[in-house]
Amino acid sequence: MSGRTDSAAQGRVEEGWFGPGGSRKYHYFVGSDLRSLCGKWMLWAHPEDAGMEWGDAQDLGMQGDCAACSRKLAAREAKANG
Ligand SMILES: [Zn+2]
Repeated sequence: MSGRTDSAAQGRVEEGWFGPGGSRKYHYFVGSDLRSLCGKWMLWAHPEDAGMEWGDAQDLGMQGDCAACSRKLAAREAKANG
């Protein structure tokens, strides 16, 4: 422990919905992987490293969440809960 009081580095979000530039929908990204669950989108950096924030479909007038990402996320959560 270094005496550092800022816990943001440890508390940062590692995955979530994110609207990459060029996409009209939100895709679900895992921060350690930087690839959308649907496999169609790659990020060049963790959104928080790039000064951007995770979001959801209610933000920014985006047209919704990617259906493929939603299905993959639901399947993953079903597995985690099962
Ligand atoms: Zn997607």
